[in-house]
Amino acid sequence: MRKVIFLDRDGVINENSHYYTYKVNDFIINNGVIDFLKIMSLKGFEFIVITNQSGISKGVYTKTDVENVHQYLKTELSKSGISILEIYYCTHHNDVEACLCRKPNSLLIEKAIARFQIDISKSYFIGDQQRDVDTAIAASIMPLLIEPNSDLTKIINKIV
Ligand SMILES: [Mg+2]
Ligand SMILES: [Zn+2]
Repeated sequence: MRKVIFLDRDGVINENSHYYTYKVNDFIINNGVIDFLKIMSLKGFEFIVITNQSGISKGVYTKTDVENVHQYLKTELSKSGISILEIYYCTHHNDVEACLCRKPNSLLIEKAIARFQIDISKSYFIGDQQRDVDTAIAASIMPLLIEPNSDLTKIINKIV
């Protein structure tokens, strides 16, 4: 079984300085992310991103924008030998269309757990908002709450 570090996207992987981040030019990978992922991958962890992208529902940007940004992220990480198992995103917003996948709902994590046979007792969820913590708890995964846009290498000692 796999041990996985789940990561929120905006504010964890990339700088959350824009109201919505949907352009490659605005997608700035935070300091420490690459080093953190390298070190954790040497410890046997794999990575899955779980992100709310309600801007799609609201018509601010499109699925294609999100896919382009995610392709960019994967390409940048691959330059450092890092791969991401999957990036799951919720396209909905309750004001527009209700769903079961928007965090703090845990449906996207549950999907990942089933698909990739993940050992939840050895996995973690890193987020920068309370709803990330709530999502992790709903899926019985250890939450790690960080300050938005902070250096992930600071929490290495919290991961076994
Ligand atoms: Mg966030
Ligand atoms: Zn959804």
